Amino acid sequence: MARADGYAYRRAQMVESLRRGGIRDARLLEVMAEVPRHLFVPEALRHQAYSDDVSIHIGEGQTISQPRIVALMTEAARIGAESRVLEIGTGSGYQAAVLSSLARFVFTIERVGSLAREAKRVLDFLGIDNVSVKVMDGTLGWRAQAPYDAILVTAGAPEVPAPLVGQLADGGRLVVPVGPRDTQVLQVVERRGERTFASELKGACFVPLIGRHGWEAKES
Ligand code: SAM
Repeated sequence: MARADGYAYRRAQMVESLRRGGIRDARLLEVMAEVPRHLFVPEALRHQAYSDDVSIHIGEGQTISQPRIVALMTEAARIGAESRVLEIGTGSGYQAAVLSSLARFVFTIERVGSLAREAKRVLDFLGIDNVSVKVMDGTLGWRAQAPYDAILVTAGAPEVPAPLVGQLADGGRLVVPVGPRDTQVLQVVERRGERTFASELKGACFVPLIGRHGWEAKES
């Protein structure tokens, strides 16, 4: 997907900043130096697209996560070239685009139809053909395509959604922000046989995961 657009220099600076911030996965950094993040944000906000710690509003009260969070979660998921990956919270589609260059198949679920459609439009425009987008409550997972080698939840959950743990392959890793509605801790849950092992990565601040195994939607 390497492209010479007007943003290549800013992308390279973003990647350098991620590297200095502790991201070590060379293939991931290479991919993030290629994916045109500015295409996943509203045109008026494109000047912010390559700041490594800025989350940007994408409409419907939702955001595209900061590049450093995308990098941290992706690195923690330990994705290989043959991996099947599930993402909950398609949002802009940027995280899915990054995953698509690292994994064999990416399945991504969004609860807001208009966001899913716009994400699909950009992914199609970029010629990305190994990402499937579905509109539904992602806290239930995507059972028909399970098991997954990695699951990334890009919205904050009150607790680890049980159906997602059940859809992990043996050795698979679930990366999910867990905590109160406005602030969470990124957790990594690894499945080994019938057992799971959880560890904590760092604090985070995601929009809420709304659904059966998440938060209730608030009336606006
Ligand atoms: N990964 C996205 C990206 O690369 O732009 C950013 C995701 S944004 C921080 C969180 C997204 O999760 C929002 O688009 C929101 O609508 C979605 N979401 C919240 N609850 C959900 C659920 N139960 N199932 C699917 N998507 C959900």
